[in-house]
Amino acid sequence: MTTAILSALADEQRGLIEQLKNPIKMLRAGREFWCGELHGHPVVLALSKIGKVAAATTATTLIEAFKAQRIVFTGVAGGLGAGVKVGDVVVATEFFQHDMDASPLFPRYEIPLYGRTLFPCDAHLSALLLEAAQASCTSPEIIFDLNYSAPQRAVHSGPMASGDRFVSGASESVDLQAALHAQGLVPLAVEMEGAAVAQVCFDYGIPFAAVRTISDRADDQAHVDFPRFVVEVASVYALAIVNELMRMLPKK
Ligand code: SAH
Repeated sequence: MTTAILSALADEQRGLIEQLKNPIKMLRAGREFWCGELHGHPVVLALSKIGKVAAATTATTLIEAFKAQRIVFTGVAGGLGAGVKVGDVVVATEFFQHDMDASPLFPRYEIPLYGRTLFPCDAHLSALLLEAAQASCTSPEIIFDLNYSAPQRAVHSGPMASGDRFVSGASESVDLQAALHAQGLVPLAVEMEGAAVAQVCFDYGIPFAAVRTISDRADDQAHVDFPRFVVEVASVYALAIVNELMRMLPKK
């Protein structure tokens, strides 16, 4: 069973490529795909690229051209939920698009013609990913000597919002959450790709799970926190979590 590991950013993917057994690099749709083995599992590694369309193209290519039978997504996100701090990890339970609005033809946030707003993650794969995230975050191997809310970092599990916008303002974040809350949507984090990949996996009926390290609070500081965090922390987390997950997955 081929597992696709989709990374949001090159820094996150680098460590995985280094570990790949029998690596083969292939080009498709203007993207690089790395096929090989991790902990005895056939895998294909890809970068999602940024934004919903780019991520959907990558996911579709993974499934159609590389026969991925499940997709695991690692990346970073802005924390929205109270108590979701920089350095915490969120495993998604479901995704929605915070910038979808075909009202009044369809309810706000509903994806037209699907009759749904929420795209669920696979419960079993997400439970394993949550376990892997919890194990990794408490691992002494992870050096975490920065000022990022260590050592009380937490692993959360809950809904995530995606949209084609880097949310980087305190008032923007408050307005976004107020509009979502009015529709009963309470995301823990916001990013730019997950809902697109979740929708593609829904269409193809393949399991999907996603984990995001919180790189910023989607506030006025977001653009400052983000770059340093990705290099120094998120890539280390992503590597540890994926390694742990691959060790846990049954071999078939
Ligand atoms: N400067 C980066 C691009 C950042 S875009 C680069 O050069 O590659 C932000 C990425 O992180 C997106 O992939 C998105 O999924 C995630 N992200 C992190 N914080 C976010 C926030 N506050 N709002 C939206 N997306 C966020």
